[in-house]
Amino acid sequence: MRKYVMAFDQGTTSSRCILYNRQGQIISTAQKEIKQIYPQNDWVEHDPMEIWSIQIGLAQEAMYKVNCTYENIEAIGITNQRETTVVWDKKTGQPIYNAIVWQCRRTAEYCDEIKANIDMTEKIKSKTGLYVDAYFSASKLRWILENVPGARKRAENGELLFGTIETWLIWKMTGGKVHITDYSNASRTMMFNIENLDWDDEILEFFNIPRCMLPEPKSSSEIYGYTTRDLFSGEIKIAGAAGDQQASLFGLTCFKERDCKMTYGTGGFMLMNTGEHLVHSKNGLISTIAWGINDKVYYALEGSVFISGAAIQWLRDELNIIDNAEETEKMAQKVSDTNGVYVVPAFVGLGAPYWDQYARGSIHGITRTTNKNHIVRATLESLAYQTKDLIDSMSYDFNTEINSLKVDGGAATNNFLMQFQADIINGEIKRSFSVESTSLGAAYLAGLATGYWKDEIDIIENFSIERTFKSTMNDADREERIKNWKKAVDRSRVWIES
Ligand code: ADP
Repeated sequence: MRKYVMAFDQGTTSSRCILYNRQGQIISTAQKEIKQIYPQNDWVEHDPMEIWSIQIGLAQEAMYKVNCTYENIEAIGITNQRETTVVWDKKTGQPIYNAIVWQCRRTAEYCDEIKANIDMTEKIKSKTGLYVDAYFSASKLRWILENVPGARKRAENGELLFGTIETWLIWKMTGGKVHITDYSNASRTMMFNIENLDWDDEILEFFNIPRCMLPEPKSSSEIYGYTTRDLFSGEIKIAGAAGDQQASLFGLTCFKERDCKMTYGTGGFMLMNTGEHLVHSKNGLISTIAWGINDKVYYALEGSVFISGAAIQWLRDELNIIDNAEETEKMAQKVSDTNGVYVVPAFVGLGAPYWDQYARGSIHGITRTTNKNHIVRATLESLAYQTKDLIDSMSYDFNTEINSLKVDGGAATNNFLMQFQADIINGEIKRSFSVESTSLGAAYLAGLATGYWKDEIDIIENFSIERTFKSTMNDADREERIKNWKKAVDRSRVWIES
């Protein structure tokens, strides 16, 4: 009988369901946008019931398209937007509030207060690997307990449950039988001790969060439970889960220590597998769990670029100098260089390694001969320089040289950018055939748990590189450009005063 692994990819703007075969090829796919709810400036919410019903609808649609029943599905793997927080009633299965999305800044002020407590901030960093920030789940969960009438009391009485999105979907799919999270998602809550792999009592007490509402932490690849019969007319195993960036690291087969990937989406995310070593960054990176598998836990260093592909959207939507993202490749190639122009897209400040929320975007080196192709080229190059900054931070932290990077995300399709990236890191960029590394990673985690794939070697056989880009730039050119980039970054820093 035909057998496929079904991946749920529950992202920030849309949900998807993809069926994969043993070769890691896509057999069927279904996708739908999810509603963004903005109750106030800087607040972002999703409707957990909508997420649930859309996801099940997509699964049924993807199966229907290729005439599959539950018997054709080997297992389900889930990857999800990380940190987004859901609280629901254990008896009724009804959320008591909308999901508070990772982007939501409603607890930013509260987190600033915590940051004033240096002792606690450092404790949180050393236990969870994270900088205190409103992105992570802890302050969002606390907000719900403080602001939804009766919530705290009900939570203390054991009537409420908390979960990130994979927890919520698994609980719903198993008819309320299974309340778990995987280590990679747990490591984004800011309540999880990533060294001893348990919720941290001291942090829970600090945020005033009752332990009884938290899911049981599990590995990222094991049979968690079965779907209720009514969903697909029969039971399907639920066997894998990982946060989106970790799943992409897995899907790109970055299984070895020092393997590194960069995702060029709206924002950019770099993760490096640090193996079984938990590395604490001295350069503003986050330490996180990559995945737990076969009784072992693998860690990663993570750095993010706030504005990556979003800078290309800015060229299109605000400057109106391009019609679509694809044409930037040809425009950049129309000129031999940027004519000395540097764009620093610090629209919302700068992340690692600078961490400057007062930085703002800037364009440097404009002369009378600067044209729009130069600006477009310099904007594309800025994506590569920001990636180089992250690579350097990782190299210092892990005391290693990184000269190979696997890539995915929308802007990774840009050949000019990938060549320039290889030039600037003085190494090679490997672009995978599969553009869906995130959902593929979730599928692999689930399929490994059930024996659909034997081991990592089995999976690596599926990985094929569509194109490798190798550096062709001479050292003097590279050094000159990096020096100028740093100068441009310096001039963008501490621009606004508050
Ligand atoms: P997300 O998952 O964050 O929505 P995607 O991985 O779909 O992002 O990538 C979309 C981003 O990639 C957009 O910001 C877009 O501007 C950028 N992008 C898409 N195609 C190209 C291209 N050919 N060149 C440069 N940037 C691109």
